[in-house]
Amino acid sequence: MDYDVVVVGGGPAGLAAAIRLKQINPDFTVVVVEKGSEIGAHILSGAVIDPIGLDKLLPDWREDPARPLTTEVVDDHFYLIGETKSLKLPNAVMPPLLGNHGNFIGSLGNVCRWLAAKAEAMEVEIYPGFAAAEVLYGDAGEVLGVATGDMGVGRDGKPKESFTRGMELRGKYTLFAEGARGSLTKQIIARYQLDAGREPQKYGIGMKELWQIDPAKHRPGLVQHTFGWPLDNHTGGGSFLYHFEDNLVAVGFVLHLNYKNPTLSPFDEFQRFKQHPLLRDTFVGGKRIAYGARVISEGGWQSAPKLAFPGGALIGCAAGFINVPRIKGSHNAFLSGIEAAEAAAEALAAGRGHDELSAYENGWRDGPIGRDLKKVRNVKPLWSKYGTIVGVSLGGLDMWTNTLGFSLFGTLGHGKPDYATLKPLSEVEPIVYPKPDGIVSFDKLSSVFLSCTNHEEDQPVHLKLADPSIPVAKNLPLYGEPARLYCPAGVYEVVYGDEATKADPRFVINAQNCVHCKTCDIKDPAQNITWTTPEGGGGPNYPNM
Ligand SMILES: Cc1cc2nc3c(=O)[nH]c(=O)nc-3n(C[C@H](O)[C@H](O)[C@H](O)COP(=O)(O)OP(=O)(O)OC[C@H]3O[C@@H](n4cnc5c(N)ncnc54)[C@H](O)[C@@H]3O)c2cc1C
Ligand code: SF4
Repeated sequence: MDYDVVVVGGGPAGLAAAIRLKQINPDFTVVVVEKGSEIGAHILSGAVIDPIGLDKLLPDWREDPARPLTTEVVDDHFYLIGETKSLKLPNAVMPPLLGNHGNFIGSLGNVCRWLAAKAEAMEVEIYPGFAAAEVLYGDAGEVLGVATGDMGVGRDGKPKESFTRGMELRGKYTLFAEGARGSLTKQIIARYQLDAGREPQKYGIGMKELWQIDPAKHRPGLVQHTFGWPLDNHTGGGSFLYHFEDNLVAVGFVLHLNYKNPTLSPFDEFQRFKQHPLLRDTFVGGKRIAYGARVISEGGWQSAPKLAFPGGALIGCAAGFINVPRIKGSHNAFLSGIEAAEAAAEALAAGRGHDELSAYENGWRDGPIGRDLKKVRNVKPLWSKYGTIVGVSLGGLDMWTNTLGFSLFGTLGHGKPDYATLKPLSEVEPIVYPKPDGIVSFDKLSSVFLSCTNHEEDQPVHLKLADPSIPVAKNLPLYGEPARLYCPAGVYEVVYGDEATKADPRFVINAQNCVHCKTCDIKDPAQNITWTTPEGGGGPNYPNM
């Protein structure tokens, strides 16, 4: 099937691009493929949304009675917490760019559902339930489009009765809007060496729960962030807690994936975090209604790859456009989708196709996205280098001076990629986690249940091991096989032929539990795991994350 523009991924970046193309010229043919069973099913975000991108795309959105963002931020708190104590930082010392007034709290998944309806009304073709599994290249090495995965292939790789061939979607331009650590984006970056001369991309794992809480405790419009406990001074991360409509509270924890201790379990850090006296009472008497996890890119300004290549471009978090201290990227997803669409529209109008959208490539660093990312570029490197107390203070200072137009640090590097930061077991103190209480903290399996994850079981395992012997032969003796702990969905296990003597270890992949967070693709110390797309429609079914 031939189109003017093929968009891979129905998140805010992809949908903004599709809508902008149709606004410019309703005759453009545009298709969006989305691996979730419906638009929004795989979207997981905070979310406090800076409306700058939405204002640009749909200036009248506030007048729409069906708008998904109705809770404006009214209160903004920042805490440094210890195990039992908390220190509220005065808003006056916070760099102004961290302020949340004027922003909206809501579900980014629902924002995408609402945008998709608008895009469809403009005759954008949207195919949810179809994963783009392969990039199509032309003879000159240009991107021609993508192919969706075959359906109805058995676990043994053989076609079943339900077998259906994937589709080829060809476009004059293909925009990759797969979000952080996209599986095709990873291939494109490698093929065109888009990361040459850039710092390595950095990531955090973000876990989130949605709670319906006791109305007496609900304060719509409250935004609260913490850093510190339960992480030690040399492990980066922090939490968010947002109160919005219908007595809903979104609580989440982001843990930087350059952590060093292989016995750390991000999921269990999140669970014990909720026991802190500052938070626990919010949840007592409430009901946890959803859970999920997704990585967030953290490399920012220094790590953003080259965006354009022959026949397409990277947009949104596929390009790593996250402002780390603000924990925000959706505004830049919108803005980059709009900018790439405008560049593509101009090229199409000039009769071009399959070349580089250099207007998009050359424009972003001096535009609103570049200005947003440049001011905060040193926060993550300072945090990683000097630890939480000193690093965050220096990061705060740097954000202040950048607000005034200069930095004492220049542009700092990120150092090692996240897979290279683990210390061997022999060099660390093992972390022991408390048992969940079933009131505010829970185990992994009951959590995964709340992600409504579902995969066709009789299909090839979508988590590919380059060398199947590595988990047991190398990762287990050296690190205790950290995949058992960093996977927030319990996909990876080591089981023993004899549990008592720990004889005959075997690495098991419960691929059907995968919530598509992409942590394993990033953090495996041997870089042995590749996340590939499972059969379309598989994965979480987040209702309103
Ligand atoms: C825990 C957490 C909290 C966050 N909090 C905030 C916040 O408060 N405010 C904020 O502004 N931002 C926040 N962010 C960041 C924000 O969610 C992202 O910046 C934003 O979602 C990026 O949009 P995107 O369209 O680039 O990618 P995504 O939102 O990730 O969307 C990508 C879409 O593409 C689909 N897809 C991927 N690969 C394929 C494929 N091969 N074939 C078909 N479909 C595919 C996915 O299923 C998904 O629907 C947070 C992120 C996390 C993880
Ligand atoms: S298998 Fe990998 S992508 Fe899937 S949930 Fe676990 S860590 Fe995330």
